[in-house]
Amino acid sequence: MDLKASLSSPVVADPLPTLALPSAVMTFTTPTSFPSPGLYLNTSKKKPLPAKLEEVRTNGWFDLMMASSPTRKRQIKDIVNDVQADDLDLQYHNWMVDYPSALTSFETITDFAGSKKLALFLDYDGTLSPIVDKPENALMSDEMRDAVKHVASLFPTAIISGRSRDKVFDFVKLNELYYAGSHGMDIMGTVGKTTESNGVECIRSTDSQGKEVNLFQPASEFLPMISEVYKKLGESIMDIDGARMEDNKFCVSVHYRNVAEDDYWKVFQRVNAVLEDYPYLKLTHGRKVFEVRPVIDWNKGKAVEFLLESLGLNESEDVLPIYVGDDKTDEDAFKVLKASNRGFGILVSSIPKESDAFYSLRDPAEVMEFLKKLAAWKEQST
Ligand SMILES: [Mg+2]
Repeated sequence: MDLKASLSSPVVADPLPTLALPSAVMTFTTPTSFPSPGLYLNTSKKKPLPAKLEEVRTNGWFDLMMASSPTRKRQIKDIVNDVQADDLDLQYHNWMVDYPSALTSFETITDFAGSKKLALFLDYDGTLSPIVDKPENALMSDEMRDAVKHVASLFPTAIISGRSRDKVFDFVKLNELYYAGSHGMDIMGTVGKTTESNGVECIRSTDSQGKEVNLFQPASEFLPMISEVYKKLGESIMDIDGARMEDNKFCVSVHYRNVAEDDYWKVFQRVNAVLEDYPYLKLTHGRKVFEVRPVIDWNKGKAVEFLLESLGLNESEDVLPIYVGDDKTDEDAFKVLKASNRGFGILVSSIPKESDAFYSLRDPAEVMEFLKKLAAWKEQST
């Protein structure tokens, strides 16, 4: 496919083409009724709590919480001398041998892309906006918005966020993009001829401009359960200073970035205790946040596959999907691209981390630079 053909394709000309459901989109089955939680509780509740805690400690929850602690980072900054700081820098540079910067490798990337059509998938928090103490203040800069708008005019571009779709749209405010909220469990596309697949139906709705759209929401049956658990979690952490809840529609976040480090474990215990009554919900961990979501085989990686197929880009050899994200949940998307060996992930991180991404960028400022370079390259080469 040549670049001119790419530019004149329906996908680029109309950033929101028909959302066609993939033929075999689901491998999970959503339960139509939820058995008594007692069936699941008997075993776990009889376990002595210390053993339970020991089990989850072994599973690494505590390490994860401490590793993403801002306080810990501040303490490290306070105590390290210049030599240690140099060591940390050296570690980062050593790590970049395995995860090269997408900026310094830009030519390699564009050489590889050649005339392929790029499809961009972007996480929001920590990727397009800085991680901030109050999640509601995670605003993207106007300059970043312009950069995203520019790339979206050149490549099909989607935002895939853990936040609710409405919330992430309120932050981004661009109609040129596709939006997948709640870790991909809430995808919006234009109305197409296909409205159902494997028992999961699209819901007809309207977007912010009053245009008819299809919503794909594979976890819709979980909504009553999610809103119930949101209430219970809120009550359970009410007395912990700094702990905050966030309703992300198909998932619930419990933020602990403003909690004293001594109370971290208490947050985990409370969340874990509430979830013992909900065998169909699972707990995952992000940057200073716990996320509670339905136990279905659906994640950001599946959302990428779904969007690629919806856009008619799934089977083509001429497509290069790139996913940029900073969090554990983005790894599902990195894995999908790595496994299919056609695109790649870019991990946004200022510290060395194991990842299934291929390249790295240090922070949202570098993400913006990368997006600007992509746009300039595309415009120059056509
Ligand atoms: Mg993120």
